[in-house]
Amino acid sequence: MCNEKFHVENDPPGEQLTVNHCAVAGTIATGNGHSQLQEFSASLNLPIMTTKTYKACHVKLQMHWEKVSVESMNQAAAKERELALSENRVDKNGIPIIDVVVDGCWSKRTYKKNYSALSGAAAIIGRKTGEVLFLGVKNKYCAICAQAENRKQEPKTHECYKNYSGPSTAMDQKFSSKVLGVPLTCIT
Ligand SMILES: [Zn+2]
Repeated sequence: MCNEKFHVENDPPGEQLTVNHCAVAGTIATGNGHSQLQEFSASLNLPIMTTKTYKACHVKLQMHWEKVSVESMNQAAAKERELALSENRVDKNGIPIIDVVVDGCWSKRTYKKNYSALSGAAAIIGRKTGEVLFLGVKNKYCAICAQAENRKQEPKTHECYKNYSGPSTAMDQKFSSKVLGVPLTCIT
């Protein structure tokens, strides 16, 4: 309307998250990966970033998200703590007592076959605030370890996602018994 022309930056200099990071964040948030982003970009006639760039963005976002989720869980724990203290719900040592809701999952869905997923997840939620106090993921599979095992070689140094080796059916119990201790000690 004013007849002026402006240059609008969608990736302002100095910003921590570039347009590539934003694209990767959106891809992850919608449950997709690099190949889906590739199809989407092709529809828009946009050149796609390489898998290497995608992975680098993924790693950076992962670090940010982990930091933010820990901060958010600590804040939720502090709120639960304050609420318990305001009601004088403390044990004999003065440690606040809070109520939590815990559930773990691992999928059994398959095509008419018995199947146990190789990863499971669990969360602990404060009853008063309804906010997440802790979440955990257990994986029995790592692609790099599996490839090395097939070749009967030692795996190269890598960030291994395998953090569980028991039967999948025991994941639920593991979460509710062992993992449960973590947020409760945080709160005290
Ligand atoms: Zn591994």
